[in-house]
Amino acid sequence: MATVIKTIKLGIHKEMNPGKRKAILDTLTLYNQAIAFYMDFFVGHLAIFDEKEPYQKKDGVIGERPWNAQEILTFAEIHTLETRAHPHPIWPLIETSPSIRTMPTSLRRAAINHASGKVKSWSSSLKNWEATGENGRRPQLGFPNEPITFYADMIQHPDFDLLARTEVRHTFISVKLWSEDKWQSVALPVVVHDKARVELAQSQIEQARIRTETAKIKAAKATKEPKEPWSDEERARVRPHLWCAQSPSIYIRKDKQYPDNQRFSIHIPMEIWIKTPKKAEVQRATHPDMPVVTVDLGVNRLAVMGAFIDSQLVATKFVRGGELNHHRHQMLAVINRKRQQSGRLQPDVQDNASLWEKIRNLDDNAARQVASQIVEFARVRGAQVIVFEYLRQYRPSKEKMSLSGRKNHKRGYWLRGQIVKWVRDLAFREGILTVERNPAYTSQMCPHCRTLGERKRHRFTCQNPDHVYQADADFVGMMNLYKKWNKTFVYPRKSKKADEPKPVTAAAVAV
Ligand SMILES: [Zn+2]
Repeated sequence: MATVIKTIKLGIHKEMNPGKRKAILDTLTLYNQAIAFYMDFFVGHLAIFDEKEPYQKKDGVIGERPWNAQEILTFAEIHTLETRAHPHPIWPLIETSPSIRTMPTSLRRAAINHASGKVKSWSSSLKNWEATGENGRRPQLGFPNEPITFYADMIQHPDFDLLARTEVRHTFISVKLWSEDKWQSVALPVVVHDKARVELAQSQIEQARIRTETAKIKAAKATKEPKEPWSDEERARVRPHLWCAQSPSIYIRKDKQYPDNQRFSIHIPMEIWIKTPKKAEVQRATHPDMPVVTVDLGVNRLAVMGAFIDSQLVATKFVRGGELNHHRHQMLAVINRKRQQSGRLQPDVQDNASLWEKIRNLDDNAARQVASQIVEFARVRGAQVIVFEYLRQYRPSKEKMSLSGRKNHKRGYWLRGQIVKWVRDLAFREGILTVERNPAYTSQMCPHCRTLGERKRHRFTCQNPDHVYQADADFVGMMNLYKKWNKTFVYPRKSKKADEPKPVTAAAVAV
């Protein structure tokens, strides 16, 4: 079993009240001040990271372990907070502003944990640097710049707002912020797209289920004496089986179209617990005819996918990429022309910023869209594995091309890598694995008669005089990838040695 996390991003409205904007920024400053305060504190108490605590191992032997986060947190709280038990802390937080002193507990604890993590890693790299003869730059502690995360006691989400108040013009999420000299709930106007709305509603149901299950298990254990530890089965019952919302954070990005060039958004991490699929080769060994999807990625056709069930091709899907390629080429040509007109480029100054951003967005969107189409295609057919060809390092085209054409060619290649990356991520959430196979000869061998064919632009023609066969070269690639998956692909004899699959995969054939 494994946890998978994805993020739902909700934009905060452009027309947000300036007072609320100020509240977000003030809270952000306070939070980072608190982190800085605790970083100072930990630098003054570096010894605690070397503290050892005795503990009993499973086999009964007494061992030593360093302090855990909870013990470090308690230490920091005892020495900075004024309580009845400790009226005179040695490093009182009281000297800093009241806004930090009255900070919600969860936020302060997050600050402490953050500070201790930062200082701990800094002190260990410092020790390392000293031990290795002070080579290079001395490690710096730096300053904190962390987004605010809202924990359970700081947010009314989504029980209160997301569902109840959708009939008014905006949807709000209420979070605790430092506003008008006190910590109070501030309703932030958010843009909730339909998909997010559905997922957040589902998450609520799942959270309610987990709460009930937890209560049930606890109640059953309450009467048991001696205390009974949770079994694996009980733990599994309280894990999220549907996407479940975790503590959201506020992020700020630069955006010229927003007031003060700042665009705010709320990121909600969603967690799900999924069954880890068995390794692809193991699955294939037990079920050689298992449904798989093979995908050939190209330029003119961004993707050609084929679904194989019981070794038969049952469905294909083509995603066109010609327009994207053309559009990108045009924009790269404009950039080139403008660069030539303006003469020498200045170092460290971004030229043609908006055009570059357009190109980036174009590629980014294409990669995500194609990836989600591939995963959906595989999911519908019940495929457990998606097969790609292994992407080699980029090699410039041998064809004669203009400068912008070359750049376009390179970006097109880079895009394929992005698609594979997104597919790997999206597919794993569905329990589908992604594997890569040797790309040699995939679009050159005839998938039917195992003869080398000829490729002219996007057309493949079989060279076998007894076999009249013509097909789309990317389609041929997709067919051959399936042969590489079930190990029936035959490499041309001449260069067999160089292109033989790696010994590891070859050994798996014997299974
Ligand atoms: Zn043929």
